[in-house]
Amino acid sequence: MVGEEFFEAIRREAEPYYRHSHHDRFHVERVYKLALRIAGEVGQPVDLDVLRAAALLHDVARAMEDEGLVDDHAREGARIARDILRRVGFPEEKIERVAYCIEVHRFRSGVKPETIEAQILQDADRLDMLGAVGVARVFARAGWSNTPLHDPGKPPKRDYDGRSETAINHLFEKILRIKDTLNTEPARRIAEGRHRFVEEFVERFLKEWEGEL
Ligand code: FE
Repeated sequence: MVGEEFFEAIRREAEPYYRHSHHDRFHVERVYKLALRIAGEVGQPVDLDVLRAAALLHDVARAMEDEGLVDDHAREGARIARDILRRVGFPEEKIERVAYCIEVHRFRSGVKPETIEAQILQDADRLDMLGAVGVARVFARAGWSNTPLHDPGKPPKRDYDGRSETAINHLFEKILRIKDTLNTEPARRIAEGRHRFVEEFVERFLKEWEGEL
């Protein structure tokens, strides 16, 4: 097991990359906690060094993608993560396994990860898109990109193409489909209540929109 000081060093190196409130260092810490919880409940051996490093670094290139500076934050993130891990002296033999987790974590890629650490990271990242936190993040992002909350003239698309025209459409097009994409049993359990909350939120929002509640 790698010492705590490595993870503190990784946090310090990663922090400047996390610039937007929907993908800030607190998103990373939530994913980190969820990942460790899933690892404890999944019933098979997990390399916690790999998982912890991957959780802390998984979105280092996310702000750059949102700002249009890179195409694929997962690939660029894996590259930056390798640099950071070498700089802090992380065990060389584990670096590629961390980079793999980051490379395949992306929702849009549709890739089913091959290692348990990558499966858990993907699940933890997806769980943070659900529930009250998930809804808050969708609206934070909508505010950042000046996307409308809702527009009854724009029905949700059947297939998500990486862009939603409104925040409510994003909940339908992406967030409410997440529970069926999870890799591990513990994540599926955690997702149930979070998914239900998003459904209730949308239902109430649409009634309030019409002045019915
Ligand atoms: Fe993330």
